[in-house]
This record gives sequence, C-alpha cells and structure tokens, in this order.
Amino acid sequence: MLLSNKVCVITGAASRRGIGRATARLFALHGGRAIILDLDGAQAAEAAAELGEAHRGYACDVTDRDACFAAATRVVEEFGRIDVLVNNAGITQPLKFMEIGPKNYEAVTDVSLRGTLYMSQAVVPHMRERKSGSIVCISSVSAQRGGGIFGGPHYSAAKAGVLGLAKAMARELGPDNVRVNSVTPGLIQTDITGGKLTDELRAEILKGIPLNRLGDAEDVARSCLFLASELSSYITGATLDVNGGMLI
Ligand code: NAD
Repeated sequence: MLLSNKVCVITGAASRRGIGRATARLFALHGGRAIILDLDGAQAAEAAAELGEAHRGYACDVTDRDACFAAATRVVEEFGRIDVLVNNAGITQPLKFMEIGPKNYEAVTDVSLRGTLYMSQAVVPHMRERKSGSIVCISSVSAQRGGGIFGGPHYSAAKAGVLGLAKAMARELGPDNVRVNSVTPGLIQTDITGGKLTDELRAEILKGIPLNRLGDAEDVARSCLFLASELSSYITGATLDVNGGMLI
C-alpha cells in the first residue's frame, strides 16, 4: 500500500464533499492514518470516525499559530511522528478588485497563506528530525490565470502566494529530505462551488475545459496521494495542474 502506516495530517478535511475529505478517505484506503483538522472539532472527529478507528479528527483553526503547533504536538504524542501534511484549508469570496476591503483581504489570505505557513512550521521540525516528509499545498488555477469564478483577486493572490511559499520551502527543506509540492485544481465540484452553477454558466465553463467535465474531489485527492507517497520521491518544488486542460 502506498501510505502504509504513514501519519497524514490534512487541514480543512471535515467538509463532506470537499477535497480534503476525499484526500483523507483515499489516504486511509492506501494504508495511511488520517488526521483530519478543521474548525469544528466534533465534525472533524466524526469525519475521522467514518474512516475507521485508526484515524483522528481534531479542531484546529490554521490561522492560529499556537493551535497549529498544539495539533502537531498532539499527533506526535499519539502516533510518534508526522509523515505527510496536506495544506488544504481555504475559503473564497466572489468579490471584484475594488470591492476588496481589509477584512476580506485578511480573511482569505489568512486561511490559505498564513494557514499554510503556520501548519507547515508546526510539522517541519518533526519531519526534519526524522529526515523524511512530504508536504502538499493546495493552491488553485486562480493563482495561474488571475481570477476564477468563485474566488476574488485576493483569493488569486493568496493562492499564488502559496505557490511561492511552497517553492521556497522545497528549496530550504530539500537537504532534510522533506519534499514540498503544490496542486493547482481547476473547477472542482465541492461545497465551495456546488449549487452555484447555473446550466448556462456550466456550459460556458465547459467550453474552456478540453476534458469537457468539471473535476471532482477524487481527481485532486489522487494527485495528493501521488505527491504524498514515494511514487514522487524525486519530485519537490513542483506544481501539479489538475484542471482538465484549462490552461492549454
Ligand atoms: P470546502 O469548503 O469543501 O472545504 C474547505 C474546508 O476548509 C472546510 O471544511 C472548512 O471548514 C475548512 N476551513 C476553512 N477555514 C479554516 C480554518 N481557518 N482552519 C481550518 N479549516 C478551515 O472547499 P474545497 O473546494 O474542498 O476546497 C479545498 C481547497 O481546495 C481550498 O484550499 C480551495 O481554495 C482549493 N480549491 C478548490 C477548488 C474548487 O473548485 N472547489 C479549486 C481550486 C482550489
């Protein structure tokens, strides 16, 4: 199995239809122990319990540095190590450039960018100590094409920041055999996008997707599995586009 007994922390993984939840499910199928972190501890625990007794769910707001460190300590105390981190928590706001105020900017960048920084800082000392680890950062096609349907320009900026941060981390952590890679999903059907697409909008979007379908959370989860596992042992600082060909 690709993740046999690997301890895998996934942020923002409680949402039922989300990318994080699908990733936790796939990691568990491949032998990993999934540690689901999300804002609501009860929801996170329930999501983990659905996967089986080897898995855990804890409350953790990734914008709170102390909470990230406390969560990492708890995982190491219980399981002895952390092998994989997926920085998945994120929020969107469908605002136009001139509509973005300080609170909007802070809310969106805090979760994606500050959250990725803090949670990575919390796990890296443990990975470094064991000279082994894989961190996967969920960015977005919005970072690459400067805008999306549901995320505003501040979302694009935060997700582009994630790509830069991941590359800088990859460079610095490579000598300790900690790999850091990013995934840039296109339009994926989850709670962020679900129910908000009219038939006309969907048809319009599909014209720009050569594979002629929207993505699903499992499409992204499979790339996370690849980057988390030894299948990608010589890959670091890379960005994997999972968008049906949107950028061709
Ligand atoms: P989702 O809303 O289903 O899941 C996001 C999860 O993050 C939720 O469970 C939420 O509770 C959690 N979360 C929010 N703020 C948090 C915080 N401060 N601390 C901890 N957890 C927090 O969304 P999704 O579509 O599964 O998105 C997952 C990731 O993929 C996000 O980073 C998103 O930006 C990115 N993404 C999504 C799409 C898409 O089309 N759905 C496309 C590109 C990128």
